[in-house]
Amino acid sequence: MTPPALTARAMAAAVRGGADPGAWARAAADRAAANPWNAFRPFHRDAVEAQIAGANRAGRLAGVPVVLKDNLADEGQPCGCASRILEGYVAPYTATCVARLRAEGAIIVGRSNMDEFAMGSSTENSAHGPARNPLDESRVPGGSSGGSAAAVAGGVVPIALGSETGGSVRQPASFCGIVGLKPTYGRISRHGLVAFASSLDIVSPFALDTRDAALVAEVMAGHDPLDSTSLREPVGDWEGACDGGVSGLRVGVLAEGEGEGVEPGVAARVAEAVESLSRQGAIVSRVSIPSTRLALAAYYVIAPAEASSNLARFDGLRYGPRAAASTLAELYLRGRGQGFGPEVQRRILLGTFALSAGWAEEYYVRAQRARARITHDMEAALREVDVLVSPTSPTVAFKLGDRAMEPLAMYLADILTVPASLAGLPAVSVPCGMSEGLPVGLQVTGRRNDEATVLRVATAVG
Ligand code: GLN
Repeated sequence: MTPPALTARAMAAAVRGGADPGAWARAAADRAAANPWNAFRPFHRDAVEAQIAGANRAGRLAGVPVVLKDNLADEGQPCGCASRILEGYVAPYTATCVARLRAEGAIIVGRSNMDEFAMGSSTENSAHGPARNPLDESRVPGGSSGGSAAAVAGGVVPIALGSETGGSVRQPASFCGIVGLKPTYGRISRHGLVAFASSLDIVSPFALDTRDAALVAEVMAGHDPLDSTSLREPVGDWEGACDGGVSGLRVGVLAEGEGEGVEPGVAARVAEAVESLSRQGAIVSRVSIPSTRLALAAYYVIAPAEASSNLARFDGLRYGPRAAASTLAELYLRGRGQGFGPEVQRRILLGTFALSAGWAEEYYVRAQRARARITHDMEAALREVDVLVSPTSPTVAFKLGDRAMEPLAMYLADILTVPASLAGLPAVSVPCGMSEGLPVGLQVTGRRNDEATVLRVATAVG
């Protein structure tokens, strides 16, 4: 059973009103250290007291305990990306998003288990064993940010950070019955986030409700001189936007989100959520964007291609344990062969092939064309409607082991989340009821830089 959960807003308000800023942080750090659901990774507990002592007691996140995915740098803490190749690595600097949370009073209390280098949809591709879903421990929490999702769903912390490349926060949020918000690409600095596919990666929060997710994303968002792709557009009042209601908003139900192996229970909850939006005054229509059917194929060329280049830095010399070898080539081969798990190796092979002379035209360039088409078509659709809605995932949380040996079945878990990733659009997953005793998530996707409308709609569902 999960304990009654307090929102980050409630905690921060109490601390601003004079409550002990360390109480929740210490309790959360102790729970994280016990590693329930194998959702956590090593973290130097001493850092908690120092943070409590120096915490901003007047901040928007005063005294709020936060867990970080193990691919976010926090100076002096391990940063292992659930990979053997980063064993023993300690971050020498702090990610911009983490520094911004701390400046508002947040206290980092733990690090979470994940799919190795964020490649996966179930947190089973971790070098440290799979994380489990706190709502049903025979099931996966989703991935790749599954440990962070479990930390929030299991009541350890009200806020955890994950990272999104193709759905790694929205999908686990859906599987664990919480909120996951992926802002527009570039809204949050990538400085200090270990790169997977740089044209897609974005730090994204998990929260108990949309207002907390909005607040945390708002605190992290905004231009950062340390990330040249971070956006300069003003962020705005996302937390306040949640209360806007949906009267008069045009909601497009994505036709392509209706087939694609969607379970009947998932389809039913999504239909009820749409019905409720309509009763609240939204103007509902059905929208078809046929090119979104290309998204999964394009994603699984582009993301591995970028990963094969980004992961070249892990050469077995600069990070992790060094393999015994007598030549340089042998050192690379052994170090990378032993250091990377099977899914990461598969992606590096796929990506290297897709970029190789003679095949790049056939694969990488075609995938980029598909991406441009999907982006164009989604943006065109979002001129006719204000948001698009669909299930976040075709299924509820699947059983541990069910898809672990079948990469293609695993990739299908992302079929409805990758379109917004390729197009760089903001999208949120919000709980919309239960099917077979497990949570269902509704995905709301909006226009570039229009997180506010996405949050308005998601709040009306929750
Ligand atoms: N599940 C997708 C993948 O394996 C997405 C991962 C992510 O968003 N980091 O690539």
